[in-house]
Amino acid sequence: MKRNLILAPGPTQVPSRLCDVLGKPIIHHRTPQFQGYLKEVIEGLQYVLQTKNDICLMASSGTGAMEASVCSILSPGDKVITVEGGKFGERWTELCKAYGVEAQVMDVEWGKAVDPAAIKEALGKDKEIKAVFVTLCETSTGVTADIEAIGEVVKQTDAVLVADAVSGLGVTDLQTDNWAVDLVASASHKGLMLPPGVAFVSISEKAKALIEKSTSPSYYFDLRKYLKSATKTDTPFTPAIGVVIALSESLKMIKEAGIDNLFKHYERLAKGTRAAMEAIGLTLFADESCISNVLTSVNVPDGVDGVKLVKTMRDTHGITMAGGQAQLKGKIFRMAHMGSLDEYDVLTGIACIEKTLNSAGYKFNLGDGVAAAQKVFNS
Ligand SMILES: *Cc1c(COP(=O)(O)O)cnc(C)c1O
Repeated sequence: MKRNLILAPGPTQVPSRLCDVLGKPIIHHRTPQFQGYLKEVIEGLQYVLQTKNDICLMASSGTGAMEASVCSILSPGDKVITVEGGKFGERWTELCKAYGVEAQVMDVEWGKAVDPAAIKEALGKDKEIKAVFVTLCETSTGVTADIEAIGEVVKQTDAVLVADAVSGLGVTDLQTDNWAVDLVASASHKGLMLPPGVAFVSISEKAKALIEKSTSPSYYFDLRKYLKSATKTDTPFTPAIGVVIALSESLKMIKEAGIDNLFKHYERLAKGTRAAMEAIGLTLFADESCISNVLTSVNVPDGVDGVKLVKTMRDTHGITMAGGQAQLKGKIFRMAHMGSLDEYDVLTGIACIEKTLNSAGYKFNLGDGVAAAQKVFNS
């Protein structure tokens, strides 16, 4: 059977220890047994999110947690700031529009990160801004935002800070409480090494005050329902039972490894990948100042068809990476450092890029990329 190595930024590889748990027969969710798992999941997520805040779980992909954040804290006509700079930043703006919220868009050049001083200025100009929406890791470009600096700015105002951490949670540092992030939205299928199915939001006291006042039309994603159930270690609707149980195991694995060790591990994988790409003459898409350790986006060299490159890697070699989205279609490819991956997985991916670029007629010394990554991994 052909290999199926996923190096795309979500879903990510599921390790066999979690596959075993996912293969177990279902149990009922209104039972003390399931409640036990739910309790472990909440505590485990508090560890990964570095928070004491309440956490609400829902059955959806990551966008559901983003939607829940928007429709639960705001009311039609409210003013907010959304930081764009990629597909996922744009999603915040689109969600706000869907709920009649007035979004002031902070347009950031793709590949760069927002300047926290610009957020400070915008908040200073308009005291009615209720929330600032940011993205921890902008997966479409490979940029990590300076959430700590943004948190410092937003906490001095009445606005709440909402972060999309679907990509990056458990992979790169996010100190929810220390950095004053009021709502963090994330999901099971990226850094947490599971299939999609569970999304979740952490909620600060400052955010809860807004949630109580919201008049947005919502039902399934109304966080009031989830907060109420959470007090009884319960969920308002049927949870993704199997994925929640597997999540308790995934969080155990993360705790065993230690979150800080994991950040270092993924940083090494990212450094090795960047060194490899540069060694074969390729350039990186994201600006050096804000380059992400969560995924690496690489410019496709002139004369090579970027769409075909990604397709050949997947269909001929069984290695899935991601291409570019929107205006970057065909222009970049993206290799993630999330989920259950070690340096040999990364070396396999680099070898495959080399092979495919070589067949496409791109000139370089075959093997230089793998050698450069090996040097990083062995240093
Ligand atoms: C994957 C991802 C999401 C969520 O996407 P879903 O398909 O809804 O799970 C949101 N934000 C970022 C930055 C992502 O990478």
